[in-house]
Amino acid sequence: MSTASQKPIETRLFINGEWETIDLVNPATSKLVAKVQIASKADVDKAADAAQAAFPAWSALTGKQRAQYIRKFQEKLAEANEELHDLEIASMGKARSTLAYEVVWANEYLETLAGQAEAVYGDSSLNQAGHLNLTLRQPYGVVAGIIPWNLGTPMWLWKVGPAIAAGNTIILKSSEKSPLLSLGLAKVIAAAGFPPGVINIISGAGPTGGYLSAHPLIRKISFTGSTATGRKVQQAAADSNLKVVTLELGGKSPTIVFADADFKNAVETVVLSSLVNVGQVCTANTRVYGDPTNINTVIGTVADALQVKSVTGLIEIGKTEGKLAIGGDADGAYVHPTIFTDVADNSQINTKEVFGPVMVFHTFKDEAEVIKRANDTEYGLYASVFTKDIDRAIRVAKQLEAGMVGINTASPTLHYDVPFGGWKQSGYGREMGRTWVESWTQVKTLYIKTASL
Ligand code: NAD
Repeated sequence: MSTASQKPIETRLFINGEWETIDLVNPATSKLVAKVQIASKADVDKAADAAQAAFPAWSALTGKQRAQYIRKFQEKLAEANEELHDLEIASMGKARSTLAYEVVWANEYLETLAGQAEAVYGDSSLNQAGHLNLTLRQPYGVVAGIIPWNLGTPMWLWKVGPAIAAGNTIILKSSEKSPLLSLGLAKVIAAAGFPPGVINIISGAGPTGGYLSAHPLIRKISFTGSTATGRKVQQAAADSNLKVVTLELGGKSPTIVFADADFKNAVETVVLSSLVNVGQVCTANTRVYGDPTNINTVIGTVADALQVKSVTGLIEIGKTEGKLAIGGDADGAYVHPTIFTDVADNSQINTKEVFGPVMVFHTFKDEAEVIKRANDTEYGLYASVFTKDIDRAIRVAKQLEAGMVGINTASPTLHYDVPFGGWKQSGYGREMGRTWVESWTQVKTLYIKTASL
């Protein structure tokens, strides 16, 4: 067969009688960007075997040696960023300005991770007669990460970075909506000289994630995505080998703006929070309790076409539930920033995570009432309070049922120096912060009997 003048041949796996690929379409142009191979169960097994084989040598390295690999990765990432951004823009329609943020975050994370790789410590105790008791912090072995599509390189690093810094070997599954960036990062792994099998990148959708969640060789899985999928991951983990699970799930973050707040700051930060990345941020401050009549800001922005249907569907529901103040429509793959007022607390537009540029504004009478209403959700990821009264700010922050609370600020606050994670059905486990790498280790207690103590 001649291949001259034909289109490039796609390579695909043929296992158990099935061919499978994902069609990746540019949301801005509707053009096919790539056909990406989906990892089958057999591929997941192969990745787990490779990770298992790589584990003894990788975990035997010192933290300092692993830190050197991370620093090399940082160097190679800087060279690859532009190419990676092109992939994200082609497959996700992302704004370059958002990607510039991601570069800053990625660098901060890699510096932190390299430092923490060198500093994983256990405890010691001399409290028992005749014993020196110690704890060691050791890696789990083969671990896995499953990520969504919204925050490219940072999200990828949240899983891969601390896992390998702690001495684990990992399989990372990207989202079916953005596999190209993860595969591009695989090239960076190779350029940084990581030993084979330490970091394995696979593409695929729900079923591939399901194989990982249920895999008997995998000892820990860290999942970021929707609450509904997180529940499935936890179930599969429990039914297989009781692997450790951490979940970073959805949110519907409340924002309380008191009358004494710096109003300009409140408006600017909350609007930015809800519109950055077209509202596709899990911590987006989308439920605002304040005085909506003063808000007069118009922001034009783009949306991911793959989300348009779900976002506009919820907007249509919102129109039947309350008053549309701004926006409310879409232009192809572009969803206009939208604000609703006069909606009931239990309405769908107020309770469901939209994951698009849609906000809901409420008024309130007093502090106790607004705290109760802010907490009236099964989500508990992020919340904000705006006031100049520091006592009130701390009093309210303490009562808000969320893993993270911004005082006079709003999300996205992806700060490497403090933990990130949710309460309630927004998940459990933390990423970043002082114990970031440590959280990918398990404790072993050593009881050392000694005649001299
Ligand atoms: P999603 O739950 O649909 O998918 C997330 C990942 O899970 C994807 O890789 C997907 O392929 C995989 N998956 C799907 N079904 C699976 C299954 N049965 N078993 C295992 N894996 C499976 O979420 P999404 O639409 O990609 O992302 C949006 C959601 O992610 C929102 O709810 C958002 O709030 C959340 N999110 C949370 C955080 C956080 O840190 N808390 C950050 C970003 C996004």
